[in-house]
Amino acid sequence: MKTLSILILTLLGVGSAHGQAVDSVDAVDYDVAVDLSSGSWLRGYADVTLRLLRPCATVGLDMACIVDSVRVQGALQGSNSLAALPTAGIATGQDFHVEVWYHSPGYIESGGWGGMHFENSLSYNLGVGFDADPHVMGRALFPCRDNFTDKATYTLRVITKAGWTAECGGVCQSAETDSLGREHSVWRISQPTPTYLVSVSQAAWERIHDTVPSLYGDYPLSIGYRSRTENSVRMAFAKLDSVVPMYERCFGPYRWGRIGYIATPQGSMEHVNNIALDQRFVNSTAERAQTTIAHELGHAWFGNLVTCATAGDMWINEGGASFCSEVAMEAALGREASDDYYRRWLESVLRTTHITDRDYRPLHDMPHQYTYGSTTYDKGWMVWHSLRGYLGEEVFYSAMNRLMARCAFGNIDAEGLRDSLSLYTGVDLTAFFDFHVFGPGFVDYHVEMVNPGEGSQGQEVRVHIRQQGVGTANLMRRNRVPLTFYARPGFDSTSCKRVATFDGEETYAVFSLPFVPAYCVLDADDEFSDAATVIHQSLEGYGVSCTLPLVFMRAKTEHEGNLHVEHHYARPSGEMPGGVVRTADRYWIVRGDWQEDTADWGMFRYIRTGFQHEYANLDRGFLVLTASADSLALMYRQDSEHDWYAVSFTRNGDANSGYLVADELRKGEHTLAIVDREHLGIVRPGFMEVQLFPNPLQPGQVLAVEVESEEAFEVSIFDLGGRQVWHKSGCRSGQKLSPALAKGTYFVRIENNFISLQSKLIQL
Ligand SMILES: [Zn+2]
Repeated sequence: MKTLSILILTLLGVGSAHGQAVDSVDAVDYDVAVDLSSGSWLRGYADVTLRLLRPCATVGLDMACIVDSVRVQGALQGSNSLAALPTAGIATGQDFHVEVWYHSPGYIESGGWGGMHFENSLSYNLGVGFDADPHVMGRALFPCRDNFTDKATYTLRVITKAGWTAECGGVCQSAETDSLGREHSVWRISQPTPTYLVSVSQAAWERIHDTVPSLYGDYPLSIGYRSRTENSVRMAFAKLDSVVPMYERCFGPYRWGRIGYIATPQGSMEHVNNIALDQRFVNSTAERAQTTIAHELGHAWFGNLVTCATAGDMWINEGGASFCSEVAMEAALGREASDDYYRRWLESVLRTTHITDRDYRPLHDMPHQYTYGSTTYDKGWMVWHSLRGYLGEEVFYSAMNRLMARCAFGNIDAEGLRDSLSLYTGVDLTAFFDFHVFGPGFVDYHVEMVNPGEGSQGQEVRVHIRQQGVGTANLMRRNRVPLTFYARPGFDSTSCKRVATFDGEETYAVFSLPFVPAYCVLDADDEFSDAATVIHQSLEGYGVSCTLPLVFMRAKTEHEGNLHVEHHYARPSGEMPGGVVRTADRYWIVRGDWQEDTADWGMFRYIRTGFQHEYANLDRGFLVLTASADSLALMYRQDSEHDWYAVSFTRNGDANSGYLVADELRKGEHTLAIVDREHLGIVRPGFMEVQLFPNPLQPGQVLAVEVESEEAFEVSIFDLGGRQVWHKSGCRSGQKLSPALAKGTYFVRIENNFISLQSKLIQL
């Protein structure tokens, strides 16, 4: 499922006891008749076939409709409660029938999402609720054993409003229109299915019927929509022809007979055969629409076929389905597009998921109110992606085929998944699951070659690798770190990949390469969701600049070459010089093979905490509201053998957002720091700053402002209350100004397109 709005996710859950005595009874089949012909309420009859699993006096069913009468094995019950249905005279292992007559004006969870919706132009149900406990909501439509594990088959008999038609889960067995114009249709779900995936709908549907050819058969495709042109809807679903075969290659056959979507007003939900799709997406080829169409279809494997055993492992369903969107993008647009898509989400997850979900959370045993949060969906996706990288694609997909076959129509929890995949792959996944599934946070790898200048062709190269946790104190065991080495000029091959494996906090890995390497890059192919995003950029030279938004950098070089930037969401290692108050929780490593030139520059982005921006929260907790923007500094070290120092820069931007522009593009590590201006003398080689002469300023004296800028700038003077008391534009460095200030302390701000600097002034 995919929400309409992220806001829904922040609602608090309500803890309550639910469910019946475990394993006392098994639902085998539901025969459900619902009359929706009023368009505003339903009248229902359900014949539920149950099997008694062990002797017990009563069994219960869940229900969120109003019960009119109940029969057990044909005997009318004195009470309309379904909580304690007598099982006297029924033997263990015996099937028995509970018949329920009921009605409902539509039941919707307090979250406003899951349940049975009656709207003016359509009626439909959504099978899960965000607030609902349990999250499954089959009970809004029929009496049932409402949980993720009790799977059954279904017959749905639907009477529609006159002139409307039904679209439901299952395969349509018959549909007839009566003399009043009401459609009577019968649908059959013959695969074992949990209650939350069963759906009915009615509207004046316009429909497309087509087929999707794939590896294991041609699947009928139906799309129900309203108020759209057929062609625009067809365009939105055109990629299914490549996506379904890809899914089948990766995860095994599609097991649900037919593929169906209907356009509904609230978010999207993966009902079997009858996906409720956010109606904005039904005729859209935009990325969000396409990835949602793919996500919901991915549930046909992740969730619908193999279902999480409890809501606490929802990442198996939702993370898996989101991973499917990436796989679908590869099928539709190629690997470069899907890698880019993944990288953008990895960056977003590293920056925001722990804020959205209020902590770094383990995927497993997720608290109820975060079941459908960003950790489940987005970090869940990252972990499926990493599992593929950890195992290698061939091994991973082969194991997934086997898992989907062995566990088809069943349930699995995180431990079971770990053990099954370990068995199928021959790779012990205990360490991987311990870190990424049972523990919170991410691992950051810092890699650098030792004495890169040494060695010749055929000789060994040593790489130092150190790990640190982000959002966790845990260390990852059985690390598998992909490294790509790039050759010095003059060799036949230009790059080669090696994988370092190690335990513990750090290691020295030794590799034999076919060339003398110039540098190596961490996980250049984005196999693994560590705490860094990595970008490769070909440099055009001739002073052409490039913008690398995902690593928050811009660069300009005079010479051609390759630029690799790793942007790590982790604290930089090593001692900082005196005067540094704190560093950012992120750092860059700039690598490459271009010939350095004094005309090069590099720009490093900053965004203040709380500043509304596409990349909000980038410097959360670092560049806080109380930090003066001119205490922001750019720190650099060549590598871990060298000390950090402050490099000179100019600032391009305002107090809230912008870039620090380093006057060279240096290879090595960079980070941002808040520095104490009083200690500036300690920090070398000095900052771009405003010089005010004289300061303090005597009454009647003129003020000179000096700044290293050839451009004109504006001078604004503020009092301590932040009120602007003086302003002049078109100023030049060294110009004499006469602001005529009252006695007091002021801030003088110098700004143009390139700089934004501030300094304190005392008027005597
Ligand atoms: Zn989903």
